[in-house]
Amino acid sequence: MSLLEGRTAVVTGGARGIGLEIARRFIEEGAAVVLGDLDQAEAVEAAKSLPGTALGLRCDVTVEAEVQALLEHCRVEFGSLDVLVNNAGITRDKTMRTMTSDDFRTVVDVHLYGAWLGTKHASRIMREQGRGSIINISSISGKVGNIGQTNYSAAKAGMVGLTKAAAKEVAHAGVRVNAVQPGLIRTAMTEAMPQQAWDSKLADIPMGRAGEPSEVASVVLFLASDLASYVTGAVVEVTGGRHA
Ligand code: NDP
Repeated sequence: MSLLEGRTAVVTGGARGIGLEIARRFIEEGAAVVLGDLDQAEAVEAAKSLPGTALGLRCDVTVEAEVQALLEHCRVEFGSLDVLVNNAGITRDKTMRTMTSDDFRTVVDVHLYGAWLGTKHASRIMREQGRGSIINISSISGKVGNIGQTNYSAAKAGMVGLTKAAAKEVAHAGVRVNAVQPGLIRTAMTEAMPQQAWDSKLADIPMGRAGEPSEVASVVLFLASDLASYVTGAVVEVTGGRHA
């Protein structure tokens, strides 16, 4: 029996990178998946590239009505909402000397407010079902803080507080809420990084290499599945030992 047979999942920011890999892993384990992303065409293309039941929809995670519509779409189309992965993300890296209020607010809005909206509305649906699993993609940056990322580190640390508080609120209703903190993972987001920054992060990793999106996806799969039936409010680091 596959780990997510008959289950349904929504992945935000699912058109590429870690989100797309999570969707692929879920589908391999029998789930039907809805990908939400800013760009409708990219979300649809990404869904088509997956080897199973997948839909792509436009969803800006900072717009409450769009988040609600995305989650409802999954429930109406597939009959339930069993898993939500709050994965959408952006960076606006600058030291505080040059970071603007807009750079700060925009990043906090996408990661923290977006994850709160998803958690709030998914947990309402999941409570009615009596089961569900929500996984928030935080970052090791939220544990240790990175130079040039006061916005991102604050948002990713905030997602840990959100995860733990929400987990306590909904545990009695059969809904689990967990977070994953990836380290340096090879995606478009990190490939945009200057070589020097990439090299200095690499030097800090005990396993001596960057991680692959599939290595985050398999941990998210564990948390999404019944293998993690007694795990809630947890934060799992996926970093090759960096900052452990
Ligand atoms: P990518 O940039 O490859 O993918 C992020 C996706 O999120 C993009 O498709 C992007 O769309 C989408 N997105 C951005 N803003 C919104 C929004 N407002 N609403 C909906 N979708 C949006 O990033 P990664 O795959 O690398 O990262 C995925 C998650 O993992 C992020 O939360 C990131 O912070 C986290 N993470 C990544 C690490 C890494 O090393 N890569 C390390 C630690 C955490 P568009 O392309 O249109 O902008």
